[in-house]
Amino acid sequence: MKILVVGSGGREHALAWKLAQSERIQMVYVAPGNGGTAHDSRMVNVNITDLHELANFVEKEHIGLTVVGPETPLAGGIVNLFRARGLKIFGPTKEAAQLESSKDFAKAFMQRHGIPTAKYQTFSDVAQAHAYIDANGAPIVIKADGLAAGKGVVVALSLEEAHRAVDDMLADNRFGDAGARIVIEEFLAGEEASFIVMCDGKNVLPLATSQDHKRLKDHDEGPNTGGMGAYSPAPIVTPAMHARVMREIINPTIAGMTRDGIVFTGFLYAGLMIDAEGNPRTLEFNCRMGDPETQPIMARLKTDLLSVMEHAVNGTLNQVELEWDRRTAVGVVLAAAGYPDAPLKGAVISAIPAETPESVTFHAGTAVGGETGNQLVVTGGRVLCSVGLGDSVKLAQRQAYDVVDQISFDGMQCRRDIGWRGLKH
Ligand code: ATP
Repeated sequence: MKILVVGSGGREHALAWKLAQSERIQMVYVAPGNGGTAHDSRMVNVNITDLHELANFVEKEHIGLTVVGPETPLAGGIVNLFRARGLKIFGPTKEAAQLESSKDFAKAFMQRHGIPTAKYQTFSDVAQAHAYIDANGAPIVIKADGLAAGKGVVVALSLEEAHRAVDDMLADNRFGDAGARIVIEEFLAGEEASFIVMCDGKNVLPLATSQDHKRLKDHDEGPNTGGMGAYSPAPIVTPAMHARVMREIINPTIAGMTRDGIVFTGFLYAGLMIDAEGNPRTLEFNCRMGDPETQPIMARLKTDLLSVMEHAVNGTLNQVELEWDRRTAVGVVLAAAGYPDAPLKGAVISAIPAETPESVTFHAGTAVGGETGNQLVVTGGRVLCSVGLGDSVKLAQRQAYDVVDQISFDGMQCRRDIGWRGLKH
């Protein structure tokens, strides 16, 4: 069978890598892919981003199933379009993807269905937003309503910072339409975790838990990024916590969508904040896998991903029992100089250690090119993600950093403490 993975990041490389391990896979097409998927003989990069053209390609090549990585094509209706043309695809419809593409939609949805989340209000009027901040004080969180590639959230520690964020988004239009409305919400303290499930419209299948590291620098300092590393499983999600998140957040979300007339299919990612008393609340929903969470999660998945995807599009996820590597996986992101503000492109990347049973490196912002035409060069902010597996967080870290220490390119940035919360538990 031929399969298409849509996207070009580390998440998509990890999905393609796992799918390519299936004996029944003839070829994994990746659109547009990256330097890692270009190098792999089981994968072919397809330089198409237009959704109609992608559907034409899938028809022409008789591709049996499409899996979508990033949020933009989902919010753009790729699932609606493919289904209308009779093509099998795993992901949420445009309507269901509003849980991610509009923070106002997600917050109103959670309030309506009693799903625990921070108190909030939505604004498009600058003066009213400022007044709300004055009335509620800092710390407080300001979010652009629409998609802003992880950059539309300001956790304001002071009133001044909060007012500035409002002006940036509402008055100065920093995020264009995505920031024409803003959500202002209560600051939640605690520990974050990523809780991702697959849903076929009726059945819910939880994946392994994980934790992301959003800040650029060690000890969670520096600016927010798309994610500098992740590890799985997340020890804070104990079996009791897992049951509670399913009961209080995931199941009511899927049921609530159905009640609102929207069938949810695809990956559902709940970003959780677990407070000191152990109460989980939802910070956000994503309608796709996380990046970089996917990389350690795929490194631990033992079950054939193609068969899981087939069950997912056929509505039979209740027949699937996932098997996980019992080891911990730690994924360390290697980022370009200047990331996240202004990543510098063009640096030549040294040789990357080959995959072993204890480690694998996934590509993101890489391409084959450079002066010789076959060098591996940096093309984006997050460049690679090296995943190490070990019987403890410490051992998994050691495996990951052993690989990281063999890779170099000009200006390479990475954190040295990925998984630190896991060590604490
Ligand atoms: P991404 O999709 O890249 O995860 P996003 O733009 O959808 O990001 P959120 O996940 O909602 O944004 O927020 C980004 C980060 O901001 C969270 O991971 C969390 O660290 C912090 N954050 C968001 N909301 C709150 C809150 N209410 N209290 C405290 N911190 C928050």
